[in-house]
Amino acid sequence: MSEWFDETLHSGYHQGFRVKKVLFESKTEHQHLVIFDSVDFGRVMALDGVIQTTERDEFVYHEMLAHVPLLAHGKAKDVLIIGGGDGGLLREVLRHARVERAVQVEIDQAVIDMCVEYLPRHSSGAYDDPRAEIVIGDGIDYVQNCGRQFDVILSDSTDPIGPGEVLFTSPFYEGIKRCLKPGGVFAAQNGVAFMQPEEVRTTHQRLSPLFADCHFYAAAVPTYVGGIMTFAWASDDLNLRKLDLETLQQRFSESGITSRYYTPALHHGSFALPQYILDILKDD
Ligand code: SAM
Repeated sequence: MSEWFDETLHSGYHQGFRVKKVLFESKTEHQHLVIFDSVDFGRVMALDGVIQTTERDEFVYHEMLAHVPLLAHGKAKDVLIIGGGDGGLLREVLRHARVERAVQVEIDQAVIDMCVEYLPRHSSGAYDDPRAEIVIGDGIDYVQNCGRQFDVILSDSTDPIGPGEVLFTSPFYEGIKRCLKPGGVFAAQNGVAFMQPEEVRTTHQRLSPLFADCHFYAAAVPTYVGGIMTFAWASDDLNLRKLDLETLQQRFSESGITSRYYTPALHHGSFALPQYILDILKDD
């Protein structure tokens, strides 16, 4: 690898990371995996040329993907994670003492193994938590066939290219619907809307027919370039997305969780979307 790692997610726009040292690089059974030490963002992992996570800013994404759905739900015991091989989301989910079981379905064992070795602070022991159950397999197969239901399901997938593509399809979302308990919540990584507007449009088109409430919330993740990134939100309980700030503040305080990005006020405001995203949703 040259002195720079150039992300190849967008054909006409690249972000570059100055590389100090490549720690691991390999073609796994499913994707190209590289983990390198960077000058400005600590250790970085990329899959198929797309930045997945960095030591320096992972907290933003993992806190928002975990705490918004879990604190909105308020009493989740059974959680399903699709993807999330770096372990950061599992770490944040298991910080909720009320969670009794966190099943993680990850297609690539190599991602888990290499992240435990080279990005240990991401999982921080979460894989050894007795509440964690790791399943190696395709997330779409799991949600179409599993005989269990969950209070909260989180899709922490790559972008809709390669193995992650199926996790943005109607059959996958139908599987999510069948695996959610009544009053459950689904949230998913859904890309940077300014750069990938079609991803917001298609997810909204595919999720809306299945759930009473389908919307998005946002966070600013520095290395997901091009503006705020969106998280897809789906639930049959219309109230969960509209909880008042006082309730969120009380739940966060009772959770005993400390954070570096998440705040109840930010949670409450994160569903307020800029007009260009609302326009995308309006067109459906
Ligand atoms: N936070 C990152 C992001 O927003 O781009 C994603 C983190 S995580 C590294 C993405 C994970 O999804 C990877 O570990 C990848 O192996 C996994 N994955 C991709 N397709 C999958 C599938 N069909 N089923 C299960 N896991 C999948």
